Order: sequence, then C-alpha cells, then structure tokens
Amino acid sequence: MKSPCIGACKNQGGICKGCHRTMDEIVKWVQIGEEEREAIMDKLLGRMSTHACPECNEPMQCDISAGESSCWCFSLPTRDVSDSADSSVCLCRKCLSKKALSVSY
Ligand SMILES: [Zn+2]
Repeated sequence: MKSPCIGACKNQGGICKGCHRTMDEIVKWVQIGEEEREAIMDKLLGRMSTHACPECNEPMQCDISAGESSCWCFSLPTRDVSDSADSSVCLCRKCLSKKALSVSY
C-alpha cells in the first residue's frame, strides 16, 4: 500500500509532522480505496492545488475551493491565524500546523 509516511510521525495539533496528513486521513487511510489515497497524495505533494499558500507560496489544496462540501482542515482544532499574511486564504498543512491552537474561552 502506498503511503506518504516518512516515519517521522508526530501529531502536531491534528496534523502529522512528517507527512502532513490529518489524523483523520491517517485513520481512514487503510479503509479508503487506492484512488482516494492517490488523490490525497496529490494534495500533499502539491500535484493537485487550488492556490498558493499565502505564507510559503507552496501550492496547496482547499477542498472547498475545489467544490467539495468539506475540507481536510475541518477535522483540525481551530488555529489562531490572525497573524497570517492573508487570513482570507487557507494556509497549507505545513504552515497551519505551526500555528498556535486557538484558545477558546
Ligand atoms: Zn504554507
């Protein structure tokens, strides 16, 4: 089975530090089909993208922009992106995982 895992797994607030899959994607990885795994790999590697990340300019995929009803980021705890270069545009997995978790009062 194909996997983007590079053996550097660390849960960084819902995103794996090594492969940048969400915990959701890691958990369902063995259950989904080869085609869906392929699609997630494309997103991870920037082969499929909707825009450039406003912080690092790497290609990234927002599933909502692509016409999906939900996005991979929905499974993550809310981040504080108020210091982002452009908060109207989604950050890539790498940059998002570096942001501090929002504190809810
Ligand atoms: Zn980025």
